Amino acid sequence: MSKKQKIKSRKPEWASGTKSKGFNSTVVDGVLQTKKKSILKKTTSNKLSINDFVKGVLNDNRTVLAQAITLIESNSSKHIEKAQEVLGKILHKTGKSIRIGITGAPGVGKSTFIESFGTYLCNKGHKVAVLAIDPSSSRSRGSILGDKTRMEKLSREPNAFIRPSPSGGTLGGVAHKTRESIMLCEAAGFDIIIVETIGVGQSEITVRSMVDFYMLLILPGGGDELQGLKKGAVELADAIAINKADGDNLKTANFTKEQYKQAVHYLLPATEGWETKVFTCSGLNEQGIKEFWNLIIDFEKDTKKSGVFEARRKEQTLDWVYAMVEESLKNQFYGNTKVEKKRIEIDKKLLEGKITPTNAVNELMKMYFE
Ligand code: GDP
Repeated sequence: MSKKQKIKSRKPEWASGTKSKGFNSTVVDGVLQTKKKSILKKTTSNKLSINDFVKGVLNDNRTVLAQAITLIESNSSKHIEKAQEVLGKILHKTGKSIRIGITGAPGVGKSTFIESFGTYLCNKGHKVAVLAIDPSSSRSRGSILGDKTRMEKLSREPNAFIRPSPSGGTLGGVAHKTRESIMLCEAAGFDIIIVETIGVGQSEITVRSMVDFYMLLILPGGGDELQGLKKGAVELADAIAINKADGDNLKTANFTKEQYKQAVHYLLPATEGWETKVFTCSGLNEQGIKEFWNLIIDFEKDTKKSGVFEARRKEQTLDWVYAMVEESLKNQFYGNTKVEKKRIEIDKKLLEGKITPTNAVNELMKMYFE
């Protein structure tokens, strides 16, 4: 890799000027709205103006919404600038949804549960957007969440919009794009946003940092399951659902529920003033869906009353911005050619014990600010 390429590759994915392959995900056809023919025609030629995007998103034109998300997912500087202009113009229409994170290991039944839950909400007149964060696709470009055809029934609901995880990029980059996609979906009038991820490492914390309510789906299991439990994952959750509580699993599921109930009692709650709820459900048989929704209604009511809801939203926005500031500073430092040259010399002195670590930092910073 040439030095120039190296420096460029150190730019954050969201930073303007990042040279890239451009669009990195495909557009999922939404529900076509034939009335808006003029916009649709232009969509195919990918020549939508900023106002076309804004108008299309605000009118909930699904094709334009999908295109706007694709614009956001692009890493090309031209697209990033355009996307920011679009977001600026829809900003006043964002923030009005309830954002729900759902996590769980592959095969636990996330897509089946979300399909039942989403369909239930659509039938109640809600508009539901499902966005996915798939850390596997950032690392290997293979995808655990996105490859199979998921939630077919829900995708046919006129009030539902499903978008797979953007492929490629770092988890941070994918998360950033998902947050901006949430904004677009809210501006299009979706009042329920579901962010789905598999429970792997950092992705759980990432999803927690962008949702109001966070649920962990687990399988019925004995005591071993509880012992192997990652305390951290449970401490992030506002609710823990023991899924597939049907047929032969029912008894074990109830047993697991009681064990988790006891366990959460000793853990810090994820949300101030809200006791983590544990319940059983069957996404397949549509059981526990209504109860889950009632839980969220209670949560929203309680946390809005106490101010915790609003405080978390504000904190999340500030954290997002300063995480980007930090990333940007880091990238500028490592991308600085003077620093890069000086590093070889300083690293050598440091490793030979000729300079203290603190003085190595001082010299590098001096070089950076010169
Ligand atoms: P995901 O990988 O977490 O999205 O899991 P899926 O929703 O794709 O489900 C994985 C498998 O578990 C599929 O074969 C489903 O039919 C099955 N499954 C999902 N939910 C349930 C459930 O509530 N009960 C039972 N018995 N099976 C389920």
